[in-house]
Amino acid sequence: MHKSDAIVLRVIDFSETSCVVTLLTREFGKITGLAKGARRKKNPFESALDLLAIVRLVFWPKAPRAMDLLTEAKLERRFRAGGKCLRRLYCAYYVAEIVGLLVEHNDPMPSVYDLTEETIRRLDGGCDPDWALFRFEMGLLNLLGHRPQLDACIGCGRPRRGNALWVAFAPIGGGTVCPACRVGQQHVLSVRTETIEFLNRIGQANFETAGELGPDPATVSEAREVLNHYVSHVAGREPRTQRFLKSMRTTQSTTRH
Ligand SMILES: [Zn+2]
Repeated sequence: MHKSDAIVLRVIDFSETSCVVTLLTREFGKITGLAKGARRKKNPFESALDLLAIVRLVFWPKAPRAMDLLTEAKLERRFRAGGKCLRRLYCAYYVAEIVGLLVEHNDPMPSVYDLTEETIRRLDGGCDPDWALFRFEMGLLNLLGHRPQLDACIGCGRPRRGNALWVAFAPIGGGTVCPACRVGQQHVLSVRTETIEFLNRIGQANFETAGELGPDPATVSEAREVLNHYVSHVAGREPRTQRFLKSMRTTQSTTRH
């Protein structure tokens, strides 16, 4: 029997009384388990298995290829901001989806757990959701070995020169590419140097300092585009919630004008 802190990433109804739940645990990595009776009124999970909830989980690990059996979950913290702000809720859904897509099953990475938990807590609190997502994505990519190379060319390794206005970014190659190495690279984006430098700084910032980097809205929106492309490439597809967040941004900017 295992016990661990865990975050609920996904819940699917399995039968009239049970559901299948994917969680990120601190000690055992991502797991998917069957919660028998979770849909009954009286159950051992006391309604703790809600999406984005932080719980204290008890489970039995099963043989490879089978599902773990969840036996108990005690609620530590429920995600509440969704009732007040749809945007915060979708940002948090995005965090859960990205972790679900990028993190392997049964590969314990406590630092990934800590980053995810902190991001969800901050999205539930007062942190600017755009900054929280930038910080989270760059942090997660870094921890999983997918940090994009932003200060040198991915082809020849030469440091990027600071005087060019535009930089080529190759999501497939994993970073910026110099004019000589650009030939032959597929799906290359032309990005303003300012935006690449901003993304580079985000990678080194923490949650407190991320909001102080203060670029203009055009840089923030271009950085969002670049990161969306890159995360979709690493994940193997466009995350569903990325599309929702995009349409929310469009609606917001239309309303403002
Ligand atoms: Zn090069």
